[in-house]
Amino acid sequence: MFSKLSNIANDINNLLVPRLCFGCNVRLYRGEQLLCTVCRNHLPLTEYDFRTENAVDRIFYGRTVIQKGAALLFYQEKGIVQNLIHALKYKGQQQLGNFLGDWMGVLLKDGLSHGPIDVVVPVPLHRKKLRERGYNQVDGFGRELARHFNAEYRDDLLRKTANTRTQTKKNRWYRWLGSQELYTLTEPGILKQKHVLLVDDVLTTGSTLEACALALKKAAGIRISIAVMAIVP
Ligand SMILES: [Zn+2]
Repeated sequence: MFSKLSNIANDINNLLVPRLCFGCNVRLYRGEQLLCTVCRNHLPLTEYDFRTENAVDRIFYGRTVIQKGAALLFYQEKGIVQNLIHALKYKGQQQLGNFLGDWMGVLLKDGLSHGPIDVVVPVPLHRKKLRERGYNQVDGFGRELARHFNAEYRDDLLRKTANTRTQTKKNRWYRWLGSQELYTLTEPGILKQKHVLLVDDVLTTGSTLEACALALKKAAGIRISIAVMAIVP
């Protein structure tokens, strides 16, 4: 009886404040969460998991040693994924990060070929940016992955020290130079000998993750794997 009433209440609420798909903006049916069935079936999954060598691993070749890289989705402009990430970053839709993290956790957790993950660490925002946005958009994603891997979630160890804008117009070398020392590891002892999963939203050139990995490597014997919500193909 109660669930019937709450269904009716949900339906009325949906008439008044329609829930819309974050991928394509159509009205969601009862039972659909965040994405409509069409968008869910059309999400461009990469299959870049922890089992086989993939494009995430290749981005870091010759730059920084990582154990393994994984990406959930392909990022395409004007597509479902761009809409999802935009809503997550700029429209306060934090639950989208949890949704993606939960999904990826299910896909990844049985294929940890490089050993169990001890700690999940998100790419941090500068505190000024964090204040503006109110949350780190990678937070829910990282927490869900940590839950699936039975790992610790630590968003207090890696700190962004300079509030720089992404220098999209410069080439990779200058971006790399510019990203050096942008991040610091506050307590290297905690991550000593740990397998850390570093997580971010969209992987483009890899310079942010590279700079974070550099800071993390102040911890002796650390091993780093990487998981991102989406990769630019
Ligand atoms: Zn949709």
